[in-house]
Amino acid sequence: MSEQAPEPAADPVAGNIPHWSHGDDDPLTIVDGEGVTVYDDDGAAYLDFIAQLYCVNAGHGEERIADAVAEQASKVAYVASAKHNDTRSELAARLAEITPGDLNDVFFSVSGSEANESAVQFAREFTGARKVLTRYQSYHGATYGAGSLTGDPETRNAMGHAAETTGAAKFLPPLTYRSPFDGDTPEEIAKQAADHLEYVIHNEGPDSIAAILMEPVGGTSGAYTAPADYWQRVRALCDEYDILLIADEVITGFGRCGEWFGIETEDVVPDLLTFAKGVTSAYVPLAGVAVRPEIAAHLRESGIDVGQTFAGHPVACAAGVAALDVYEDGLIENARARSDHLEARLRELERHDAVGNVRGRGLLWAVSFADPETGEPYLNPWIESGDNPVDDVLDEARKRGALFGGGRPRTQVIVSPPLPVTDAEIDRAV
Ligand code: PLP
Repeated sequence: MSEQAPEPAADPVAGNIPHWSHGDDDPLTIVDGEGVTVYDDDGAAYLDFIAQLYCVNAGHGEERIADAVAEQASKVAYVASAKHNDTRSELAARLAEITPGDLNDVFFSVSGSEANESAVQFAREFTGARKVLTRYQSYHGATYGAGSLTGDPETRNAMGHAAETTGAAKFLPPLTYRSPFDGDTPEEIAKQAADHLEYVIHNEGPDSIAAILMEPVGGTSGAYTAPADYWQRVRALCDEYDILLIADEVITGFGRCGEWFGIETEDVVPDLLTFAKGVTSAYVPLAGVAVRPEIAAHLRESGIDVGQTFAGHPVACAAGVAALDVYEDGLIENARARSDHLEARLRELERHDAVGNVRGRGLLWAVSFADPETGEPYLNPWIESGDNPVDDVLDEARKRGALFGGGRPRTQVIVSPPLPVTDAEIDRAV
C-alpha cells in the first residue's frame, strides 16, 4: 500500500455522460422546494415550470406524500413483489377507479420505460403477433427495448443499433404545425394521418402487428395534440385489424392535461395504458400498466411471470395512494382551470418573429422557435451546429428565476408546471 492516497482528479466531472449519478455540467443544485417553487443551494428561488421532468404534479414539499412514505417505510418497507401487500392492493384498486373504461387490472413496474416494455410483452403474449407500431416524434423510454419504441431522432441516433431491438416500425404523427401531411384543416390531417397508418399496417402485415403505441399528447416531442377524430380513427383501425391500442400516459397521466388521463379528452378507451411519473408525483419511483380484464385473464392463464423486484414497492405505493388523495383534493380541477390562462399567456409569445408555434393541452405546452429573419420553422439546425438558441432561452429564463424544459428535437421549450400553479405564477413565468 502506498503511504499517500492518490491525488483526486482535478475535475471529477470532466468527460462525464449527462444523467450519470453526478449529473451534467449544470451547476444548478436544487436543495429545497415548496409548491411550484424550488430553491438552490444559495437560497435562490425558481418557478419550476417543468415539474422537474413533468412529474412532480402535486408540487414540491407536499407533506401528505412525504408522511405516507415515512409511515410505510417504518411499518414494513418492502414486501416481495409477488406477495400480497395491502398498500399495493389499495393503490391498484384506486387506480382501477380512475383509469378509463374497463382498464381495471394493474401490473406494477418501476419506470416508464419498463412499463412500456411490459405493455409490449403483454400485447405480444395476448395477440401472438410481434411487431409494434409507434410514431416518429414520440418518446417511450431509453432502455434497450423502450428506446426502440421511441421515435424522436435524438434518442434513436444516440441508441444506434439498439434502436432496432424490438423491430418497432414507425409511422408519421398527425402534426398540424410542420405537418408531413398537406391537409388544410385538422380534420383533413386526421384523415390523412389515419390513412397513412393504414398503409403502414398493410405494408407491415396486419397479422404481424401486436400493438400501436402512442402518447395522447406528444410529451417531450413538443406537446402536440391530435386533431379531432384522429384517436377514434386509430381505434377503429385497431378494431378492424385486431391490433391492441396502448396509450403511453407516462407524462399525460395524473392531471397533466386537465383530466386524470390524457386519453379521456379523445373519448376512446385503449386496451392497455402505461403510467409512471405522476402516479407518485415522483416522490418515489413507480410505474405500471393497466389492462383490460380479458388481457389480464389471458396473462394469468398463460402463467407469464415477469415481475421485477422493486415493482409495486410498498413505499412507492404508499406515495401513490397519498398522491391520488392530493390530486383528488382539487388539483385536477386546478390544472383544468389554469389551462386557459397558461394558453392565453403563451399565445402572446406568438407575436414574436422567433416564435413559430405554441401548442399543448392542460398544463403541458410547447413553444416552437422559428427563424426570425424568414419566419421559417427550425428543423434541427442547432443540434449539428452546437449553437442552440433554445439553450440560451432556458439559461436566460433560469437567470430570471424560472425553469423550463428543452424538447426533442431541441427546437422548442416545454412548459409543464406542477398542478397547484396559480395565475400569478403563470404570469411571472411567462
Ligand atoms: N413514456 C413517456 C411518454 C415519457 O415521457 C417517458 C420519460 O420521460 C417515458 C415513457 C420513460 O419513462 P422513464 O424515464 O421513467 O423510464
